[in-house]
Amino acid sequence: MKTQIELAREGVITAQMQTVAFDEEVAPEYVRQMVAEGKTVIPWNHVRKPKAVGIGKGLRTKVNASIGTSSDIVDYAAEVRKARAARESGADTLMELSVGGDLDRVRREVIASVDLPVGNVPLYQAFCEAARKYGDPNKLDEEMLFDLIERQCADGMAFMAVHCGINLYTIERLRKQGYRYGGLVSKGGVSMVAWMLANGRENPLYEKFDRVVGILKKYDTVLSLGNGLRAGAIHDSSDRAQIQELLINCELAEIGREMGCQMLVEGPGHVPLDEVEGNIQLQKRMSGGAPYYMLGPISTDVAPGFDHITAAIGAAQSSRFGADLICYITPAEHLALPNEEDVRQGVKAARIAAYIGDMNKYPEKGRQRDMEMSKARRDLNWEKQFQLALYPEDARAIRASRTPEDEATCTMCGDFCASRGAGKLFAADLNDAKR
Ligand code: SF4
Repeated sequence: MKTQIELAREGVITAQMQTVAFDEEVAPEYVRQMVAEGKTVIPWNHVRKPKAVGIGKGLRTKVNASIGTSSDIVDYAAEVRKARAARESGADTLMELSVGGDLDRVRREVIASVDLPVGNVPLYQAFCEAARKYGDPNKLDEEMLFDLIERQCADGMAFMAVHCGINLYTIERLRKQGYRYGGLVSKGGVSMVAWMLANGRENPLYEKFDRVVGILKKYDTVLSLGNGLRAGAIHDSSDRAQIQELLINCELAEIGREMGCQMLVEGPGHVPLDEVEGNIQLQKRMSGGAPYYMLGPISTDVAPGFDHITAAIGAAQSSRFGADLICYITPAEHLALPNEEDVRQGVKAARIAAYIGDMNKYPEKGRQRDMEMSKARRDLNWEKQFQLALYPEDARAIRASRTPEDEATCTMCGDFCASRGAGKLFAADLNDAKR
């Protein structure tokens, strides 16, 4: 079966493109064109047929939620609850990143629990299985790795983060650079670097890139080029090793696209706000406009417990400057495995950040809702405010927990409610006269 990009190039508007066009209120022909050019991807899988979600140029910034077991905490039912919580809170895609317990089981249970496109990182299970089988993850052999990628695609993966961009040249850049304040922080990335050093070999995912593409193409799974050397500290942002890997990933995005595979490029990580725009410009320019998947980014290292906020600040900026998919970060980041409530908080923060970014990315269509909210506040129209809120139930709950004496106002100012007095009349005159 052909992939979305192959069909788009033949001029076919698929059912998935129609769905994306309808959801995004754009023309189906526009979606087809962007998919054909590789500027938009629709994570898909011929076997599982998930919800069609468009990621890319001219579309709303999407939010990914990552869940999964760890070696310390294995609770299959909890992972299913987290997947559903992510869906309910507004995640557009899900990544199943388990590294503890029966990895086939947790993947299949999570996939069965939601209709969202689900992605994963095959290196996690590959190194776990090699460690279990041989007692040493560095004994992973490439046939085992490619078989596993096929098995995971057959289970329904709609996108897959594969660390193809780490090669011997990238490691040489890291070695010559001579430092990494935060070390290597990608589990898949650090495991692949260790394997290459232990075996004195090139990364098989780079060396046999066409084989990776061939497997994913069979299912129309999007190949997301993993950012294994991403900075995990603000002071490592944009270092030579990270940019070297980005350069290779952008080159591979072009090759994969030419081969008829839908391609995503992954970005960092930890990035100070003033470097976000440059990072995105570089990725877009070098990859020919491939959709960019940024992990927030986290914008400071010093707020553990609140990294859903540090990442949301970075994500608003990255969305604004062109990131197409942002991965949420939860309050548990750097501290513990996220629980269900962490997942909800993380998705909400990222969803709000993406909304703010889109207001600036698409000013022509992004601000009407804010105008309506302003008027509803001015008019003390509480029901309208709740309807317009990104998370109405949270807003309702806070108001209901502190009932005002005068139902028209709230307990913030009470008798001194500005919207109830002269301010309301003045605002009404001015706004309606000018608009
Ligand atoms: S009481 Fe204060 S915060 Fe509440 S609606 Fe009136 S002006 Fe706004």
